[in-house]
Amino acid sequence: MPSPTPPSRLFRGGRLFDGTQFLDATDLRCGPDGRITEIGTQLVAELGEEVTELDGRWLLPGLVDCHVHFREPGLVRKEGYGYGSSGALHGGVTTVCEIQNNPPLMDSLVTLKTKLENLRGISRVDYAPYGSLVEESLSDLAIMKKHCPAVKCFLGCSTGAGGVADEATLRRWFAAAAKAGIKVVAHCEDNDVMDAATEALRDDPDKFTRHDLRRSREAEVVSIDSAIAIATEVGAILHVFHISTFEGAARVTTAAARGMAVTGSTAPHYLLATADDTEAAVQNRFKVNPALKYEDDRVGIGNLVRQGMLPIVGTDHAPHPLDEKDRPYQKAPSGFPSIDLLLPLMFAAADLHQCSPEPFLHAVTQGPADEFALVQKGRLALGLDADLVIVDPSQKRVVDETTLLSRSGWSPYVGRELRGFPEQVFLRGNLVFADGATVGDPIGQPLMA
Ligand SMILES: [Zn+2]
Repeated sequence: MPSPTPPSRLFRGGRLFDGTQFLDATDLRCGPDGRITEIGTQLVAELGEEVTELDGRWLLPGLVDCHVHFREPGLVRKEGYGYGSSGALHGGVTTVCEIQNNPPLMDSLVTLKTKLENLRGISRVDYAPYGSLVEESLSDLAIMKKHCPAVKCFLGCSTGAGGVADEATLRRWFAAAAKAGIKVVAHCEDNDVMDAATEALRDDPDKFTRHDLRRSREAEVVSIDSAIAIATEVGAILHVFHISTFEGAARVTTAAARGMAVTGSTAPHYLLATADDTEAAVQNRFKVNPALKYEDDRVGIGNLVRQGMLPIVGTDHAPHPLDEKDRPYQKAPSGFPSIDLLLPLMFAAADLHQCSPEPFLHAVTQGPADEFALVQKGRLALGLDADLVIVDPSQKRVVDETTLLSRSGWSPYVGRELRGFPEQVFLRGNLVFADGATVGDPIGQPLMA
C-alpha cells in the first residue's frame, strides 16, 4: 500500500529532544515528503500547513526498539505485526528491529525477503527484521546483509528455536558472519552452567522454581566471555542483547574500550525490576530469559546507560497469552509484552536512577539507530524521517491492561503509576496514533527491502 502524502506540518512551542540532547529550538517543520525540513524558533506557519501547538510539551524522535518478537510469520496467534506494531505506537515506537524466534527462521534470503514484502499493509511501524544465524543461513549471509541489520544467534537455549550450544559450531557460524561482513546479535546464556544449576537445585523445592538461580549471573557472564573470545578470534562484529548482569555489561564495555568490535544493550526490565523485589504472584509474569537479577546489577547497568557506555535499550517484547504465562513455573513460557510501555518505562528508569531522562531517551532513539545503521531514524535533524512523538512528561497514569494494544492484553507492570505516555505519534509525517488509539491504515515500510 503506498504511503499517503502527509500534509506539511509545523510543530510549535515545544521542548525538542534530538536523540541525544534537548535543543534550543522550539519548532519543527516537516514537508509533504515526510522528512524534517526545518528546526528553529518562531517559525511562521505557511499557507495550508497543519499547525500543532505543543504548549511546552516534548517532541521526541520516534522510538527505535531494536529487540522485539512479533511472531509473524508462524505464530500470529500470539501477536503478529498488526497487533505488535499497534502496541509499538502506544509505546512511542515507530521503528522495530524484530527477531523471528519461532519457525520459520529467517534462514535464507528468500524467507527474509518474503517476510519483508508480506508485512506491507500490515505493519503500522517501519521495520528491519534480523536474519537468523543458523546452519541453513550460512551460505546466504553475504546477500542477506543488504536486507537486514544483523543476524541473530542464540547462545544456549531460550524460549524459541535456533539455539546453539557447542563452541566449534559457534566458531564456524561467527566466522561465516565475519566473512560476510554482517553483524552478529546474540542472546548469551551458557547451557552447561544452567544445566548444572538446575541439577543442583533439583532437590530443593523452594529454590527449584527460582528462575534467577537456574539462569544465573554466571550463566550470562560465561556465555558473554565465550562470545567475545570467539568473535575476536574470527573477526566477527558482535552485539550482546538484553544484558542482565552488571558483570556481563562490564565485560562488553571493557572489550569495547580495548577496541574490540563488541557492543551491547539491556532491556527496560533489567533497569526497573529485580528477582528480589518481584512479588511471588507476579514472578511468573516476570519470568524472562535472561532472568531478572539483583539490585547491584540493576544499579550498575543503569549507571552504564547513564554514562553513555551502554547506550542502547531494547524491550525484548515477547508476547504470550496470559493463560500460558500463568501456568506453573516449569510450564510457563519466558518473556512478556512490554513494547506498549517503552517510553513511560524509560522515564521510570531515569527516575529510579535519579537521572535526567536524556541518556535513557537516547538509548531508545539515536543509540539503536546508530548501532544498526538506521540512518533515517532515531534523531530530529534536517532531512531525516519525521517520525515524532508528542509527550507531556508530567502526565502520570496507572498502567491499565485494557488500554494496551498488543495482542496479549496484559503487562507485568500493571498497577504501576508511570509518566510520559505518548499523546500523538507520527510516522514519516503521518499521524498514526492519537488519544490511545491507532489512526488510519498501516503504512509501515521495510527499511532494508
Ligand atoms: Zn528476545
